[in-house]
Amino acid sequence: MAVAKKIILCIICIITTNLWTLPVYAEQVHRVAPGETLSSIASRYGISIDSLLGNNQYIVNPDLIFPGQVLIIPDANMQAYVVKPGDTLSKISQQFQVPIPILADINNIADINLLYAGQILVVPKIYTVKAGDTLSNIAQELGVNLTDLLVENNLDPQSYIYVGQTLIVPFRSTQREELVAIENELAPVAARFPGTFFYKGQPNGLRVALTFDDGPDRIETNAMLDVLKRYQVPATFFLLGRNMPGNGDVVERIVAEGHTVANHSTTHPDLRRLTAEQVQNEMLTLENQIYEITGLRTALMRPPYGFVTDENIRQLQDLGYKIIKWTVDTNDWRDMDIDKVLINTMPNIRDGSIILMHDYLSQSVTKEVLPEIIHSLRSQGYTFVTVDELLGISPYK
Ligand SMILES: [Zn+2]
Repeated sequence: MAVAKKIILCIICIITTNLWTLPVYAEQVHRVAPGETLSSIASRYGISIDSLLGNNQYIVNPDLIFPGQVLIIPDANMQAYVVKPGDTLSKISQQFQVPIPILADINNIADINLLYAGQILVVPKIYTVKAGDTLSNIAQELGVNLTDLLVENNLDPQSYIYVGQTLIVPFRSTQREELVAIENELAPVAARFPGTFFYKGQPNGLRVALTFDDGPDRIETNAMLDVLKRYQVPATFFLLGRNMPGNGDVVERIVAEGHTVANHSTTHPDLRRLTAEQVQNEMLTLENQIYEITGLRTALMRPPYGFVTDENIRQLQDLGYKIIKWTVDTNDWRDMDIDKVLINTMPNIRDGSIILMHDYLSQSVTKEVLPEIIHSLRSQGYTFVTVDELLGISPYK
């Protein structure tokens, strides 16, 4: 990094250090400095260790955090509690002054008697309505969006509120939004197509799979391969047929360096809108291109945009394919900012995660984020495997 850039960053650090005592209504990145512990970091941001752990569930050993490791500091309104042996929901409710139904609802707890030690509960902050309050002055007082306040509490702007009513203070949480959405959407599909449709691996000794879509790209794919080689990390590349011409050597390099090549279609269409014949062409054109270069016939595919119908899945299965979606979306194509990508990624990583990244956009920060993700996960004992190894399936026909 250039010296000038470093100096500017340091100035920014000094400025932001002074702001860190204020609660911030957003998640932010913290890079562990030598000598820091979870407890010193938590107190620096004025949050509990439980809240810090709750937003960084990739951490499996809270006593061992390492310099350079990335932690995502939760929004100041997001609290979490790690359930201790003997805890009950009623005890936790009393401790935080949050009604049991709110705790049960926000954590999707069906049976309030089934808590287990180590379980992480989101504990919202509560606002009790006072005389003369309006929804907009409450939002202002809390420093939150009125819309967020309404949505979090299932209210509309005209809703009647009464003195003593408890409102949930809204909080931003990538983890809560993304993990729940992906689970709700994909778990039923995986259940309908066991052994064919995958979006995560089973927890098994802390393994995750990095996946890259939309290459090969001479500059970007090679940049990712350089980083992966430096850290000795295998990954999976879902290639696009339209990017193959002139990039045969890049594809050869992917395979030679121990990565898996997989099929992401020829022209990146929405498969749901294609005829069966068109779907077959999309898959086989690229399959043959890859075969000519590597002698390998791909058996893993990722649908463009992640879109597939059940009918698509049945056809892809007949073509000898397994469909691989993802558990964690880095949104690296959308957010061209290192910290934003880390915030999108780290809170959602678990044992068995399949992580979606891209290797075709020259302005993306993916190659810069990768070392931090790798270092943070390795610090906690994770290993990186190809997606086929994670899932225990064959990458090629
Ligand atoms: Zn794509």
